[in-house]
Amino acid sequence: MSNSSERLLKYLSLIEKLYDALGEEEAPVKLMHRIKRRDPFHALITAMLSPRSKDEQTYKVAMKLLNVAPTPYHIRDMSVEEIEEIIKPLGFYRQKARNIKLAAERIINEYDGEVPDKFEELIKFRGVGRKIANIILSTVYEKPAIAVDTHVYRIIKDRWKFVEDAKGPKDIEDFLMKNLPMDMWNKVNRWLVAFGQSICKPLKPRCEVCPLSDDCPYHSSKRQAVGGTG
Ligand code: SF4
Repeated sequence: MSNSSERLLKYLSLIEKLYDALGEEEAPVKLMHRIKRRDPFHALITAMLSPRSKDEQTYKVAMKLLNVAPTPYHIRDMSVEEIEEIIKPLGFYRQKARNIKLAAERIINEYDGEVPDKFEELIKFRGVGRKIANIILSTVYEKPAIAVDTHVYRIIKDRWKFVEDAKGPKDIEDFLMKNLPMDMWNKVNRWLVAFGQSICKPLKPRCEVCPLSDDCPYHSSKRQAVGGTG
């Protein structure tokens, strides 16, 4: 086992414990996980609504839309304007409404009403990229896949200083797949997102309460910088 693998597994074992202890208010990704697990179509719609929106807000809006339109057939029968009206609180709602309607039509016309379970098929949907496809595969279909979003990217690259020369999410995805056992792949996104929402926050990481603080490269570089100026 490489040094990177060892260090990564050590961090993740602490993060996993933390995930179990966190509530949905502190880590809204848990709300999203709840909705995603109940139905592949609900998972896809929720994931398509989520870019550039906070999980709490996405959850509320997704629930509202899915209560009115729980299946692709309901969405197909709505106008884009009706979808827009419901999802208006979210960023890019016009684009998202169009993509959701197209996705419902495609699911009905090409997949007999079922959300496909293959990466190559999922990324053909407009508004579905690598991250969303991997979220659907890992969360709904429990396939080994790793979704890299901004939390995962920041923590792995900037805070824990793995793959510091990463050029994009795919480099982080490759690193995680290379260094983690496959049975961890479909859990690592939600552990890291919950950790990023509650402790290792984007602007002000809460290092003072973090279980990794003694061993974290970002935290120790900050301490050295403060010590160096004193
Ligand atoms: S010590 Fe700070 S920077 Fe490091 S993982 Fe914890 S919260 Fe993030």
